[in-house]
Amino acid sequence: MVLNAVGKPLEMAEVDLPKMGPNDVLIKTIACGVCRTDLHIVDGELPSPKLPLILGHQVVGKIEAVGENVRRFQPSDLVGASWLGNTCHCCEYCLEDKENLCDGAVFTGYHKNGGYAEYCAAHEDYIFALPKNYRAEELAPMLCAGLIGYRAYRLTQKPKKIGLYGFGSSAHLLIQLATAHKHDIYVFTRPNDTKTQEFALSLQAKWAGGSDQSPPVLLDAAILFAPDGSLYPKALKDLKKGGIVISAGIHMSDIPSFPYQLLWEERVMTSVANLTRKDGEEFFSLLKTTPIRPKTHTYPLKDANIALQAIRTGALEGSAVLLL
Ligand SMILES: [Zn+2]
Ligand SMILES: [Zn+2]
Repeated sequence: MVLNAVGKPLEMAEVDLPKMGPNDVLIKTIACGVCRTDLHIVDGELPSPKLPLILGHQVVGKIEAVGENVRRFQPSDLVGASWLGNTCHCCEYCLEDKENLCDGAVFTGYHKNGGYAEYCAAHEDYIFALPKNYRAEELAPMLCAGLIGYRAYRLTQKPKKIGLYGFGSSAHLLIQLATAHKHDIYVFTRPNDTKTQEFALSLQAKWAGGSDQSPPVLLDAAILFAPDGSLYPKALKDLKKGGIVISAGIHMSDIPSFPYQLLWEERVMTSVANLTRKDGEEFFSLLKTTPIRPKTHTYPLKDANIALQAIRTGALEGSAVLLL
């Protein structure tokens, strides 16, 4: 499914097999997660995507072929490709172990073709060996929704009480990890969205309410998943002294001005950008001991536009996944 122009629906097309470099593997796609970032790319909210573009950065598949220099993997291995497709190894961020901020990063399904297709090429150093005790459609959302949530969760310094603002693909995975680690989770949804609040409570949220409500206690940390800038001042109000607000989204509407009083007392505002390979290795190793079960809605590849629309309207509970 190809994005030929920003703002237009994806179109089904026959394309050539991806070109492989000597360090690339060719993945035969089994499943590919649909992420809100894909929607931001289609809607023109992220600058200068490669066009035409095959979206998809939560790619699960089996290796079909390997380039001549590939050493880590072999044909038939089950692997996952994520948003971080390659980095430059020489900018100041790469040299400081912050490859998620690399000046020359190549992102899958944005700068290079991704997994909304039967085949996808990926550099062997940037793919993950996946655990065998999950179905492909369960693994797909882990590759971005799971990883980004995990990275944000790490930045919270793992406090006791965490607020999740927005309860979509990423939040419904993170709550399972955080409650397994004995943290109390408070979930904020769109006002009056009792269905999503019930879903959050079924996943052991301590409390769930609308984003117009105050939690019953002050929180240590807030993670913003909904791309709504007005949630920043709202979350600051919900925090204890010294608490932290982290935005996990790649795009967000403007943050309205707010009184300094809300930030005073060493509250912190920050964001999570992309991911590192270390995040991925840690997260997939955690999955072996801390099971996370995504709630998935699967679509055939040809219905990718329908899946994107389900994310746009917020109608979907859990994660959308394309099955090839
Ligand atoms: Zn770099
Ligand atoms: Zn994503």
